[in-house]
Order: sequence, then C-alpha cells, then structure tokens
Amino acid sequence: MGSAVMWFRRDLRLADNPALLDAVAAGDGRVLALFVLDSALWDKAGSPRQEQLAASLRSLSDSIGGNLVVRHGDPATVLPALAREIGAASVHIAADYGPYGGRRDSAVAEALDCPLVSTGSPYAVAPGRVLTRQGTSYQVFTPYYGAWRDHGWRQPVAAPTGVEWIGLKSEALPESTAEAGEEVARKRWQEYLGDIAAYDDERDRPDLDSTSRMSIPLKYGEIHPRTMLADLAAKRSAGATAYQRELAWREFCADLLARYPEAAWKPLRPEFERMAYDEPGDGFDAWCNGLTGYPIVDAGMRELAATGFMHNRVRMVVASFLVKDLQVHWKYGARWFMKQLRDGDLASNSLNWQWVAGCGADASPYFRIFNPTTQGLKFDPEAAYVRRWVPELRDLAGKAAHEPWKYDVPGYPARIVDHGAAREESLRRYAAIKGTAPDRDRS
Ligand code: FAD
Repeated sequence: MGSAVMWFRRDLRLADNPALLDAVAAGDGRVLALFVLDSALWDKAGSPRQEQLAASLRSLSDSIGGNLVVRHGDPATVLPALAREIGAASVHIAADYGPYGGRRDSAVAEALDCPLVSTGSPYAVAPGRVLTRQGTSYQVFTPYYGAWRDHGWRQPVAAPTGVEWIGLKSEALPESTAEAGEEVARKRWQEYLGDIAAYDDERDRPDLDSTSRMSIPLKYGEIHPRTMLADLAAKRSAGATAYQRELAWREFCADLLARYPEAAWKPLRPEFERMAYDEPGDGFDAWCNGLTGYPIVDAGMRELAATGFMHNRVRMVVASFLVKDLQVHWKYGARWFMKQLRDGDLASNSLNWQWVAGCGADASPYFRIFNPTTQGLKFDPEAAYVRRWVPELRDLAGKAAHEPWKYDVPGYPARIVDHGAAREESLRRYAAIKGTAPDRDRS
C-alpha cells in the first residue's frame, strides 16, 4: 500500500492546496501530515507569531482528526527518518522562496531517499514568473502589476476527500489562545467581501478599522491568495480592484526578495550603504515603547505591542519616523516588527521598510518625508485611533489629541525630536550620498 508525506509549512489549510492533492495522489490516499518546528525559525519568531502558528497548527490538526504529526528538529533529519518509517513514495511541499527556506529545502531534498516534490507556492503567481520583455524582474510596481495581471493565475482547487491520515506519535504543540485556522480565515474573508466596495476609500483610515486583517491568515497559508482573487473577480467594484492591487504588492515583495535575498537586511539601492545613521539609543527605545510624544506614532507602536498588528498607513508613519526623524537604520525597525507582528513576513516587511526608507525598489522619493502630525490629522481626522491607543490623550477632544503639546496633558511625554529639524538633518545626510553610486539595473 502506498503512502506519501505532506510537509506543511506556510500552507496550513486543506482547501485550494495543490501540493496536498499531489500528496494524496502519490500516496494512494494515505498521507502523513507533518509540521516540523524548526528552531532556526521558531526561536527567531516573537511570541505573537509563535502563538499564531501554534493556534493555526492546532486548528489544522483538528480538521484532520487530530492526525497532524508535529516534530521538533532539523527538517533535513526529521523528514528522511519519517519518510523511511512509513515507506513514503514521496514528500510534498509548496515552494518556499525565502532565503532560509530555499537552503533548507535543498538540504532536505539531498537528505531524502525519495523525491521532494514541490507544487505551487504561497502566491498566485510564483516569484520569478513575471518578467520584463528582456527577461529581467521588475523593479517598479506599476508595470509589475500590469504584467502580473496579464500572467494570470489558476482557479482554486477543492480540498481532497477520503484521505487516510497516517497517525504517528506527535510532540505537543505550545499552548495558544489565538484565533486561527482555515475556517476562521474563510469566515473572516467572506464577511469582509461584503464590505469590500468601501475598501478603496477607507483603507488608509486607521480610525475606521476598515482593512481586512487577512495578512495574518495569508502569512500562515490558512487561505490562498488565489481563492481570494477568484472571489474578487466576481465583485467588479473599485474596492475589489484596489484590494487585488494590494495582494499584488505582497507578490511583488516576494518576487524582489527571491531575486535579491540580501534585500532582507541590506538596501536595494547601493548608494544607501553610505548613508549615515545613528546607533539605536534612547530614541529607539522611546519608539519601541510608544513614548515619542508624537500621538500617531505612539498609538501605532502601542497597538503593535498590545495586539501584534498595526494598520498599514500607521506602519508607514512609524517607519518613516524611525528612519527620517530618529535617523536610525531601517533594519532595526524591521527586526522589531518581525518580533512583534503576528503577520511578520520577511519579504513584505523588509521590502516595505526599504520602500519607506527610500532605499528599496520603487521607493518613494527620499525627500518626501512624512510629517507625523499632518499624517495623523489627515488619516485619523477626529483622532479616534490615537485616543483608542493612547489613554493619556483621552481628555483631548477631536483633532486636539494630535497636538497635545498645545495643551497641558499630564503623563504624556514631550516630543523627543523636533520634526522640522530632524527633517533638515535627514535631507542633509541624503544629499551626502546622492549620486555617490550608480543605481542597480532598473527595468
Ligand atoms: P489590507 O489593506 O486588507 O490588504 C489586503 C492584503 O494585501 C494584506 O493582507 C496583505 O497581504 C496585502 N498588502 C497590503 N498592503 C501591502 C503592502 N504594502 N505590502 C505587501 N502586501 C500588502 N505585511 C505583512 O503581511 N507582513 C509584514 O511583516 C509587513 N510589514 C510591513 C512593514 C512596513 C514598514 C509596512 C509599511 C508595511 C508592512 N506590511 C506587512 C504591509 C501591510 O502593512 C500589511 O500587509 C497590512 O497592513 C495588513 O493588514 P490588512 O490585512 O488589514 O491589509
């Protein structure tokens, strides 16, 4: 009787999972569902991501009758031993395009006595597929987006039926109370689809809580973007189109990281290697703890600490503040985000940090420096978001909470930097590197 291993990683779902369908076919219906808690990844994730993953794994196991086998260890040791133990014909995965994942999968393929079969990826269009006419990858989002849409993607596939899950002893999962899993993800998505028409107009407003929060299920693969794109195609509203574009940003980030693995922590624009940054000190600590004296920055950092999530617009504002007001290298902020975010994803995180810092692909011009107060007034017009996360400001009505320095507010810190002066300093440092090195090939 045949059998195969389905090695789950960032695809913790049964529906629309082509790698799982391949495993079922290769194993004549008998499949060992495996997740390896690899300390190289687990130890680096902060507790929000660990909790989220543990809850997602528990949910996946419940959906297959408690038969998910969890093992701690190095995948290059765990996989061959288990495949041998059940006499598996093959091990099945969805491709991982991250720098560590690629190396790990090569090591596992080498160590196995049977084939490691890769089917699909966590993306609608796998990194490396969308190319310019010259066969190079895109460095600018808008043409990438056009080519990505022209490339297209497959239709979702159904969950397998009649699988005999091979039950083996499993190690215990860490405790978690997080809400997670395929069913939760699908329910959230279906509910959100009902409101998607407003997405285009409202997505920049942190006070309205109007984005989908699908980044968390997408991170763990509880839903595939292809499933979401198929639902969006049926909607045909400006909101649905805007949402599709955001999903394309996720794929653009993954495409860039696959092409430039060093972009995880190094600037894509080489001249930024010469940029003068300050070592993280008291200002960095104030930023991490939401005590900068700039309400929108502090609200975002406190939302992050309390929930493991932050609204996209606020991510941009706090990131800009760290890099351009405190002159701290983006990699320190990116590292802090990866520890704190439930949706922490190397590609989306590093490439967005680079975008804000002005050193990434298609980055906003360096000299366009966010003014945190103006951003707050524009995107949180009545300061409801600020008051939600910064209790010291709750007695200031309306917009006043964006400028607490004009009032006598006990317990709230004074501004740690003067934005105008910091802006000038940033521009001075940028002028010093401008034109000092050629741009990387830009298509
Ligand atoms: P929605 O507005 O509902 O967007 C729908 C989906 O589109 C998101 O779930 C996400 O998958 C994708 N998306 C939206 N905006 C972006 C974007 N700018 N880049 C890539 N994908 C996007 N996203 C992560 O998933 N993980 C990260 O670690 C991460 N770090 C970030 C760091 C910084 C400094 C910035 C500016 C952005 C970062 N983002 C990251 C992108 C974005 O902020 C989040 O995807 C978004 O806030 C998640 O909330 P949502 O699902 O409600 O978004």
